[in-house]
Amino acid sequence: TQQKSSEEIAKEYVDSVYETVCSRNPDEAEFHQVVKEIFDSLVPVIAQHPEYMKESILERIVEPERLITFRVPWVDDKGHIHVNRGYRVQFNSAIGPYKGGLRFHPSVNPSVVKFLGFEQIFKNSLTGQPIGGGKGGADFDPKGKSDAEIMRFSQSFMHELGQHIGPDIDIPAGDIGVGPREIGYMFGQYKKMHGRFEAGTITGKGLDYGGSLVRKEATGYGTIYFVEKMLEKQGVNFKDQTVAVSGSGNVSIYAIEKAQDLGAKVITCSDSDGYIYDEKGIDVETVKRLKEVERRRIEDYLEEHPHAKYYDTPTDVWTIPCTVALPCATQQEIDDETANLLIKNGVIAVGEGANMPTSLEAINTFKKNNVHFAPAKAANAGGVAVSSLEMAQNNMGFSWSFEEVDGRLREIMKNIYDNSSEAAEKYGYAGDLVIGANISGFLKVADAMVAQGV
Ligand code: GLU
Repeated sequence: TQQKSSEEIAKEYVDSVYETVCSRNPDEAEFHQVVKEIFDSLVPVIAQHPEYMKESILERIVEPERLITFRVPWVDDKGHIHVNRGYRVQFNSAIGPYKGGLRFHPSVNPSVVKFLGFEQIFKNSLTGQPIGGGKGGADFDPKGKSDAEIMRFSQSFMHELGQHIGPDIDIPAGDIGVGPREIGYMFGQYKKMHGRFEAGTITGKGLDYGGSLVRKEATGYGTIYFVEKMLEKQGVNFKDQTVAVSGSGNVSIYAIEKAQDLGAKVITCSDSDGYIYDEKGIDVETVKRLKEVERRRIEDYLEEHPHAKYYDTPTDVWTIPCTVALPCATQQEIDDETANLLIKNGVIAVGEGANMPTSLEAINTFKKNNVHFAPAKAANAGGVAVSSLEMAQNNMGFSWSFEEVDGRLREIMKNIYDNSSEAAEKYGYAGDLVIGANISGFLKVADAMVAQGV
């Protein structure tokens, strides 16, 4: 009988834990995908470090420390009562208090919250900052709601969540559907509940009450800093690129802005109704005003830029030829067919500004075709990284300048790139940032878990 190689043993272990995850969490497709992606990357690590298997690290890391589900009742402007469901997954606190955003979107359910929370563990670890992994949200649709309705919903949501968080426990922030307005209402509610000004209990706050400069820009800027670095390693200049962006929220806007700062041409953006193709280059100031201030649809971009084109098929944004594709809208935007089309049209790099916008098959197609691929947990870690800098400033009771925070963000993105590519190389997958980011994020958390005991 032949002896099994350590690689085979590791693979069997990883697969068996994955099987358990699937049977224990039925109907959670998003959660299964993220676990599969991360676990498959860890095979070479487990093969070289059988102690992780002995410590049952995968079984432990894949089970949230806590999943809180709660009722969110609220009253609309007509006096009707609605009930939504709120969630917070406190996934892993091995390296710091739980940290991660809140998403208000009808698609939010336990699978989505757990996929985002699991991803967040590794992303937060990659930033090099002392933050654990968490995520939350509600299946509430902010679209078309008045300001007063948003306020009442946010207050009701925080009235429950506020019992479970705190500066040393769990620090939420924004995500899809949660921006400075919602953060403000939630912070106000938390303050009323606790009778204390605890700035470090939530991040993404307004600059007048404990927010950090560059937090608003951080995810988008960070994605560009990362992609710039990835291209630079190949001797490719960012300024020569034609960039397609999806979305027109916080991540997209500041990715467009920084890409243009670096001299690239950005030709698309989108929202859930449709996409804009502007061959002269997207006017980011118009997008900012429409989305951040007036809360209108992207279609209205045409009012000021009648030469641009609007199509009411948002995912077709990827039919526009580009050399760099930045999916910054939501999960599962790029499937295998879309990946093949992008390749046919000449894409050389993909950077995930959103969380899990690319399917597993599409990621493999990009890799096989030598498209440089910047995975979300590395490429969009700038947002949570600056959230951590916001917490640090709150603790010090003192704030840094824009240049100071931006410089630190750049440094963090550079370190994430270096650590991810070094980890990929060390474990035999040179150039594969998906595997490298997973490994690099995992090692610190796994070692902390081992150190802290079962
Ligand atoms: N929601 C963002 C993310 O996906 C930011 C989280 C935070 O700042 O805590 O990483």
